[in-house]
Amino acid sequence: MPASNKLIAALLTAALGTMTMNAIAAPALSPDNPFARESTLPFKWPPLDKIKNEHYVPAMEAGMAEQRQEVADIVNNKAAPTFENTIVALERSGQLLNRATTIFFALSSSNTNPDIEKAQTEMAPKLSAHSDGIYLDAALFARVKKLYDQRQSLKLDPESLRLLERYHTNFVRAGANLSEAQKKELRTLNEQISSRTTEFRQLVLKGDNAAAIVVDTKAELDGLSDAQIATAAEAAKTRGKEGKYVLTLLNTTGQPPLSELKNRAVRERLYKASINRGWSGEFDTTKLIAEIVKLRADRAKLLGYPNHAAYVLEDETALTAEAVNSMLNQLAPAAVANARREAADMQQLIDAQAKANGTPSFQLQAWDWDFYAEQVRAKKYAYDEAQVRPYFELNRVLVDGVLFAAQELYGLKFKERKDLPVYQEDVRVFEVTDRDGSALGVFLFDPYARSNKRGGAWMNSFVEQSRLFGNKPVVTNTLNIPKPPAGQPTLLTWDEVNTAFHEFGHAIHGLFSSVQYPQFSGTNVPRDFVEYPSQYNEMWATEPRVLANYAKHHQTGAPMPKELMDKVLAAQKFNQGYATTEYLAASILDQHYHQLAPGKTPAAADIAAFEANALKSAHVDFPPVPPRYRSTYFLHIFSSPIGYSAGYYAYIWSEVLARDTEHWFKTHGGLKRENGDLLRSKVLSKGFSADALTIFRDFYGTAPEIGPLLEARGLTGGTEGAAH
Ligand SMILES: [Zn+2]
Repeated sequence: MPASNKLIAALLTAALGTMTMNAIAAPALSPDNPFARESTLPFKWPPLDKIKNEHYVPAMEAGMAEQRQEVADIVNNKAAPTFENTIVALERSGQLLNRATTIFFALSSSNTNPDIEKAQTEMAPKLSAHSDGIYLDAALFARVKKLYDQRQSLKLDPESLRLLERYHTNFVRAGANLSEAQKKELRTLNEQISSRTTEFRQLVLKGDNAAAIVVDTKAELDGLSDAQIATAAEAAKTRGKEGKYVLTLLNTTGQPPLSELKNRAVRERLYKASINRGWSGEFDTTKLIAEIVKLRADRAKLLGYPNHAAYVLEDETALTAEAVNSMLNQLAPAAVANARREAADMQQLIDAQAKANGTPSFQLQAWDWDFYAEQVRAKKYAYDEAQVRPYFELNRVLVDGVLFAAQELYGLKFKERKDLPVYQEDVRVFEVTDRDGSALGVFLFDPYARSNKRGGAWMNSFVEQSRLFGNKPVVTNTLNIPKPPAGQPTLLTWDEVNTAFHEFGHAIHGLFSSVQYPQFSGTNVPRDFVEYPSQYNEMWATEPRVLANYAKHHQTGAPMPKELMDKVLAAQKFNQGYATTEYLAASILDQHYHQLAPGKTPAAADIAAFEANALKSAHVDFPPVPPRYRSTYFLHIFSSPIGYSAGYYAYIWSEVLARDTEHWFKTHGGLKRENGDLLRSKVLSKGFSADALTIFRDFYGTAPEIGPLLEARGLTGGTEGAAH
């Protein structure tokens, strides 16, 4: 950002850093601002047609002022602290701020624009300071602590007792036990981390757009479908390069066209454009990485932890860095060995083709992997994605697959609604009716990739379920499926089908939430637990009855031939060495950055060497399989104050629970209402109203077992008995 803005931000930071809770008041919010009052639309659906860019900042400013006043009222209450007048009052505070930030952050990811970006940069440090203002308020903490110390005699119900304990933990982890001087230091660190991570996110998004490659001729795109070529021509047109072709990048190292492009030089260009993002020039993110890693290490030290990972993991189900390292180290050798076997298969194919064509052979490189993997897959399983895609039309996958499975398992009904305002014309809205005919909540589905949407796929909540506020859940799924030209059907890859089931698993976790307090609602669980319901839900994509219901040819409606279906199922374990290794490499990289003690963090110029050393020391430095994210575009860990920092391992940690649950379903009769209802009552409705591992044990009967995960990923050779 321009230097003048930086100065203003620094001044604001200084001013906010020392203010007391009720020292400044924002101007009253105009009644015309759509955030000013709770939405009167069904389900408190946000009035997206009325929300304009200029509404966010005033609503957030007023929302912070309102919450400061609410907190001041709690602190100044002459009555002795009670659970109601302190803990529940805190839980009730900040509703205006919550309404505004929920939509603001959701749209900053899925439908951003320069005004939202500017507001993000402006608001990130203020919001961070606001949160600190609450958690570092000594008088407020004194009330919480007083209640916490007498918690056993308060006769609270289990969820209320847990709420009190969580507030106490949250205050302590936020620094409530620090001296005033240390608190001031902490506030400054938090604001800086907040600003730097916001800058990182915005720079990566711009860098992704800028790194798209231009291809001059159609001939060079040989291997892509007509639809993909049309999309590339369209992308060139919108960038003022009419007559050429532009291949845009996803925010992962791997890029989908690599599996189809026959021209090896174009593959190499696309791959290199991907992995070289962010290392130099206008979109260089190395300086920000160095700052973020240093700031986090300094903050951990201030809070009394040896490093950032120790601080983060204490509050996860993993508990310690040692536990995480132990699991990653057990899985990595088996995964890399598996990837090397896969590479050898492909090298054989490359050599054989070269011999047959009388051309020189070459060594398999990272940009060749997907292309030859696709051929090995086609050979071993005799099908390719192009054969499969016509059976995965988006609407059928959604309605007859994802939603159908939920109907069979849980008795839910979905009805599309066109009357609730949306933020973009491709977005779809479904009202969800429960098994007893009552309204359960609303599901929003935003399928297509856009340049103003960040990469990946995710779930969000517009409204969180809670009995305290009488709120029913409004949840969203955002995907990044390339949009076909007008009039063409949207045909998914097998990965995209899986992603749709995955994200809906998060949605169902939000929809089934049945808790008293918003703090415990739905997906507000530890990160290494949150991917459990989503990864579990992927199992329904391949369940024969579900698959038969959605996998129909988009033109003829003919069912997917059984042999093809069997091949898709058989191919599930294919390429798992690659998938597991690229994931573990990124997880290991994340731990390496965040297990550093203060003073040991790398400078910007050393980030590249640091990354290489981290991969090498963990023996995941196999060049044909680069990490799923390189440091410079690793949004999960560097794009928000905590995000998935020291927590990217969480996916595989959660997957242990997911695979155990899949195993449980398979040994208990599979797709049956009674099974679905049991999982709903024991797990999916609980949110974080109980300890995560207790929730799992209560459903599964024992502690998590790693066997089903190893089996699912084809890693059973040599890592038997690995457990966490
Ligand atoms: Zn997920």
